[in-house]
Amino acid sequence: MAGNGVTLRELDDRPVTDLNGVGEERAAALAKVDVHTVLDMLCYYPRRYLDRSREATISALPVGDEGMVLVRVTSVAARRTRNRRTLVEVRVEDETGSLGLTFFNQPWRERQLSVGTEAVVFGKVDQYQGRNQMTNPLVDLVGDQTGRIVAVYPQSEAAGLHTRQFDSMAAEALRRVTGGRGFADPVPAWIRDTYRLVGRSAAFSGIHRPGSMKEVSEARRRLVFDELLRIQLELVQRKVELERTTRGIAHSVEGDLVGAFHGALGFPLTGAQIRTIDEIGSDLAEPHPMHRLLQGDVGSGKTVVAVTAMLAAVQGGHQGALMAPTGVLAEQHHLGVAELLGDLTVPDLSTLLGTRPLRVDLLTGRTPAPERRRITAELAAGSVDILIGTHALIQEGVEFNSLGVVVIDEQHRFGVEQRAALREKNTDATVPDVLVMTATPIPRTAAMTVYGDLDVSVLDEMPPGRTPIVTSWVEDAGEDVWQAVRSEVAAGRQAYVVCPLIEESENLEVRSAEETLAELSAGPLADLRLGLLHGRVGQADREEAMSRFRAGDLDVMVATTVIEVGVDVPNATIMVVLDAARFGIAQLHQLRGRVGRGVVASSCILVGEAPTPVSEERLRALVRSTDGFELAEVDLDLRGEGTIMGERQKGRNDLRLASLRRDREWVEVAREVAVGLVGDGGGMARHPDLADEVALLLGEAESDFLLKS
Ligand code: ADP
Ligand code: MG
Repeated sequence: MAGNGVTLRELDDRPVTDLNGVGEERAAALAKVDVHTVLDMLCYYPRRYLDRSREATISALPVGDEGMVLVRVTSVAARRTRNRRTLVEVRVEDETGSLGLTFFNQPWRERQLSVGTEAVVFGKVDQYQGRNQMTNPLVDLVGDQTGRIVAVYPQSEAAGLHTRQFDSMAAEALRRVTGGRGFADPVPAWIRDTYRLVGRSAAFSGIHRPGSMKEVSEARRRLVFDELLRIQLELVQRKVELERTTRGIAHSVEGDLVGAFHGALGFPLTGAQIRTIDEIGSDLAEPHPMHRLLQGDVGSGKTVVAVTAMLAAVQGGHQGALMAPTGVLAEQHHLGVAELLGDLTVPDLSTLLGTRPLRVDLLTGRTPAPERRRITAELAAGSVDILIGTHALIQEGVEFNSLGVVVIDEQHRFGVEQRAALREKNTDATVPDVLVMTATPIPRTAAMTVYGDLDVSVLDEMPPGRTPIVTSWVEDAGEDVWQAVRSEVAAGRQAYVVCPLIEESENLEVRSAEETLAELSAGPLADLRLGLLHGRVGQADREEAMSRFRAGDLDVMVATTVIEVGVDVPNATIMVVLDAARFGIAQLHQLRGRVGRGVVASSCILVGEAPTPVSEERLRALVRSTDGFELAEVDLDLRGEGTIMGERQKGRNDLRLASLRRDREWVEVAREVAVGLVGDGGGMARHPDLADEVALLLGEAESDFLLKS
């Protein structure tokens, strides 16, 4: 059945000029919206629909709510307001009544909406002097469409294309396919039946030329499923492939070193830590390499888990590495890990005692050359047990004696190249086990998509004895803010003041941190002992400042985001974040995690105006919740998937309709189906049609990777 239908690849081989009515000029305009082929045209989906059968009439418009209606322009007039803005006032009507439209600063509306024009308008209805009207509604020009449902396409002013033109081109493209062989459907019928999915011909017709809104939603379900399935097929296949083709080290987690480490901690592991360590342990024991993601909220105790994994390698005679995204974070991890490890020893037959201290070293871009030479020599000889540093650890001529476990603290994404580099680390061609840590929890279904080739462990339990942080938001850093800081200090506690984030320039950020320090020490915090930390403070000075703060010789640490990770001073109980709206949700949550680390109640004051409704929403979410997973959901809602997907999915057509937010359950369905189809390691050979679509619609980088491995 799938055999003789038209495939997406065939459609992608036909230029848009194949369509009746599309000449060179139109093709050039379409190119501006990235529509080059007939397939692109069919995947240029409507953004809304107007259901004429559902009383979408002017008289039925709900005042105070958003509404959509098909209207005809009866008059249009432009004028200037007193403060010199243009104002275009339009009257429109349908069979049931008339409506006013007001446009500010859109002078071109006068030409666009000439008398007699038919348009779909969408906006919030309010009443002005007793008459219904909309201000700055969305407007789509439509042709004389007679169907019950009118598809409204995203139109492009730049390309000079209107929704009615897209509508007729899509209809023409559809006619060419469905009038002939119909669409090939690469998804086996039993899968479509199980999940009640319509066939592909029905899906494309239903999304472009629906007979009812029910057809639209059925079409959408199917197309969303297809998008998500392609991604999951790629990910599941890649995961299975890695497991099948690479040789790892079978570690043993039971041993003296791990036992001694846990025994010396001074606190019992949380249930979640025990469970996660178990999960990692069974991965490590397997002969193929681990690829696991460790998710856990700030303060949930990820470091203990990560160190346990590295020690499991060390006690078997291998080495561990921990990679951080920046040198500053690497330094902090180095301090933290060294402190956690205390004076553990490892067997060493060449010494009198038969043991030597466990060695942890730091290697970053700032490591002086002689030190670097010493470390790399000892690393190759096997006398460095754990190496902490930046990505450079695994990239540049750094050779390990036997690298067993790599922990990646993934503030930024760990890419394909880094993974490939890992494969070349061990001379016996074994591949180290990899544990990726994220301090920023992401929702489960998003994780399934972004990290779909990893297994996931979650630390969903906080160590006991924490008191929740109370967060507030104020627009001005007024006297009460500094009074709050002073009274904490008076009570013997300490404070952080986080300076504005200036992403564009580290220099500017440093300068602003210095200014903040100067202002505070000359003004509201004049009588307190202040310290300063930023990205340009040298390592020695930074350690000095941190140890003075830890020792209680400083009351307030004025800092940039360098304190985001790894800083652990339980006596710090208040944090003031200046210009908080500049930070993202995850980053604020992470920063806030620097307080609330002891038994004393802590607080966080977010300062500054929120310039946009979205930034206001972000700040309000932080005030409302201290749960990282909940905040991650809010973040996904506010930002959409684009940012989460980031570099990872560059595919041309994937995730056009699907939303990791709205379509959560479909992510899981797609995963399930993909595991069913390729989870047994048989690859895509048995599903050549699907394989071809994955190759066609997902980015090159993805397929490249598969070829390399
Ligand atoms: P994360 O890296 O997940 O933000 P950390 O590993 O920095 O969290 O741990 C936060 C703090 O909690 C550290 O001071 C750590 O020593 C402590 N900690 C970790 N596990 C436990 C536990 N099981 N019980 C008590 N304290 C713990
Ligand atoms: Mg293993």
